[in-house]
Amino acid sequence: MIEVDEALRLIEAAAVPLPPRRQRLLDACGFALAEPVVSDVDSPPWDRAMMDGFAVRGGDVAAAAGGVVELDVVVDLAAGDVTTIVVGSGGCARIMTGAPLPAGADAVIPVECALDGTAATHAGGRVRLRDERFRPGQHVARRGTAFQAGAEVLASGTVLGAAEIGLAAEAGATHVVAACRPRVAILSTGSELVPPAATPAFGQTRNSNGPMLAAAVRLLGAEPIPLGLVADRPEALRAAVAQGLAADVLLLSGGVSAGDLDLVPGVLALCGVEQVFHKVRHKPGKPLWFGVYRRAAAPGTLVFGLPGNPASSLVCFDLFARPALGILGGKPRDAWHLPRARARLTAPAKAAADRPVYLPCRLAGPPDALEATPLPWTGSSDLRGFAGANGYVALPANGKVHEAGTEVDVVLRP
Ligand code: AMP
Ligand code: MG
Repeated sequence: MIEVDEALRLIEAAAVPLPPRRQRLLDACGFALAEPVVSDVDSPPWDRAMMDGFAVRGGDVAAAAGGVVELDVVVDLAAGDVTTIVVGSGGCARIMTGAPLPAGADAVIPVECALDGTAATHAGGRVRLRDERFRPGQHVARRGTAFQAGAEVLASGTVLGAAEIGLAAEAGATHVVAACRPRVAILSTGSELVPPAATPAFGQTRNSNGPMLAAAVRLLGAEPIPLGLVADRPEALRAAVAQGLAADVLLLSGGVSAGDLDLVPGVLALCGVEQVFHKVRHKPGKPLWFGVYRRAAAPGTLVFGLPGNPASSLVCFDLFARPALGILGGKPRDAWHLPRARARLTAPAKAAADRPVYLPCRLAGPPDALEATPLPWTGSSDLRGFAGANGYVALPANGKVHEAGTEVDVVLRP
């Protein structure tokens, strides 16, 4: 049995960033570019009207010196319309936001500035306009002022959030070269397990770990590959593990403790997965197993044998699998570590005598005055206490009751 920090160190030593991959833009959401995005167009691509109104020649308006200008509407332009008509002196275009400015025009007067009921004037009519705050070039986004064709709009290393994805799309990048979302196979082991849709018969247990782990993986932006259930039979388990080893990470749950049918470590060994450690001194989740499946040419598969009890599985995922997924996904080494902080207990919390314990809690208050309320929790098979938990109270192995008001270590869960 090893300590939590040692387990983390071994996991971090085994985890290597996946090679960047050319992928669909949206698949790279949340991950860093490995090559810059270069635009194939100017932005705006042409002089674009930014208001609904009338496209005018600034000279005509200047000549009116703040007074009323009366102009002939020579063309109607909605977004998407183009014209070869040139706006000459004394003319204007009725124009909607997003339309290209016609040749000759260089500013837009908002429709609200039309006088004497002329706001609805279309091509062929005359409009009377007064814009007391008129500035040359107003309400026009000029071609190429945001960026120009050939410009690097996103540097290598940029993490793709919503704005960056939008910008890349505007720049014509349907695919990007970026760090990849780790693909995470999830396999629930146990002959007693039935799918969530089934009503469990006496002795059966619903597979809650499968959906829970898939959700945890998805929330990180990695890609869950649910492999479903497998019974505690070596041959069946071996076939399912072989399938899971095609992924970047294999998360198994169940079958890693000391029972007669805890077959997972043995089957993993038969499948060629090298054990790195088995059992960590913490609670819940002591039976955690970790190993690596190495391949000649490609990166290996990290294999986590998580305990079957759902709360133990979740804590092990949070503490150990999460940071590994971050490293695989090309994140800074501790990016996906759950952050730690100090908080004041609002109710007593009891430490275990033999191992550090992680108790589900509700954290509230400002970062410098956090309060931790332990949630009612009956033990490692009980997920109810974890629903709504946004942290763990992390207590050292001293068997003490930590009274309300004492300051303790906490782990923040997003
Ligand atoms: P094990 O680690 O296989 O000894 O399982 C420990 C406990 O967790 C047993 O009560 C199992 O029935 C339960 N368990 C195992 N796998 C799951 C799962 N996927 N979902 C819910 N409970 C599970
Ligand atoms: Mg089992």
